[in-house]
Amino acid sequence: MNHHSPELDHDLAALLLYWRTCGIDLSSGSRCLNEWPESYWRGDFRPVSITSVAAIPAPAAPPDPIVLPVPVAVPPPAIPLAQLPACTDPVAQMNQIAEEVRHCHACQLAHTRTQTVLGVGDLQASIALVGEGPGADEDRQGEPFVGAAGQLLNKMLAAIGTSRQQVYIANVVKCRPPGNRNPLPEEMAACQNYLFRQLEIVRPRLIVALGRFAILCLLGRDQPVGSMRGKRESWRGVPVIATYHPAFYLRQPSRKRDAWADLLLVLETLEQHSDAPERQTPEQTEPR
Ligand code: SF4
Repeated sequence: MNHHSPELDHDLAALLLYWRTCGIDLSSGSRCLNEWPESYWRGDFRPVSITSVAAIPAPAAPPDPIVLPVPVAVPPPAIPLAQLPACTDPVAQMNQIAEEVRHCHACQLAHTRTQTVLGVGDLQASIALVGEGPGADEDRQGEPFVGAAGQLLNKMLAAIGTSRQQVYIANVVKCRPPGNRNPLPEEMAACQNYLFRQLEIVRPRLIVALGRFAILCLLGRDQPVGSMRGKRESWRGVPVIATYHPAFYLRQPSRKRDAWADLLLVLETLEQHSDAPERQTPEQTEPR
């Protein structure tokens, strides 16, 4: 062993002693470590111990990889209904939605419903009417707008020369909110895609939003119905006419003239769409 410097001797001897302590042997020239004279190990150095090796600080952990934030999924812009490819089998597609809805537990309304209420009417209707949610009668019978409000809706439809068989009727939520309370935002959010898919199948030329929650779902605006009446809004290129829910007209019969004005706007809007099908001549009477 050459003696280059005291520091080197010290470090080298400490290392060799540590190896020897660990039972590691190696040759240096013609001798193994274990054959070195004991006098060599009595040098003024502190042999490296296992404890001191353990105390050697661990190499610094590599820095955490840079994790880029996952971009929030932005839904693709909704395609105007008129640009969707043709619906080849509306009945099968609507049945598929009905099956999904029947087994849906996406919100708490699943726990209190008697049955789900999907929709009713002509799958190729020019007019779709969107209400809020099933009431007690609808929950029992599995069909939207069958109670007193439904009977008034039938009269409103008759007043513009059509019927519930010729339009399509659905609600924002498919399960009855207990006690006829308003649907909660999370319930509407969980359910609204079923409605959108229904409307994609039917492809109405015009949608009537019956009340605040239909307006909120279709137009994304939580505004009083009164401020939305008399306008032509749009959902994916389809005109939307807002009016009060029939239950409101039942509570406030004097406001039925508002319903009549809104129905006239429905007719006027349909007529402005030259491809609207021929319809019966409307009875010029207000719904009762
Ligand atoms: S209201 Fe709609 S989302 Fe909620 S359980 Fe019923 S079908 Fe599913």
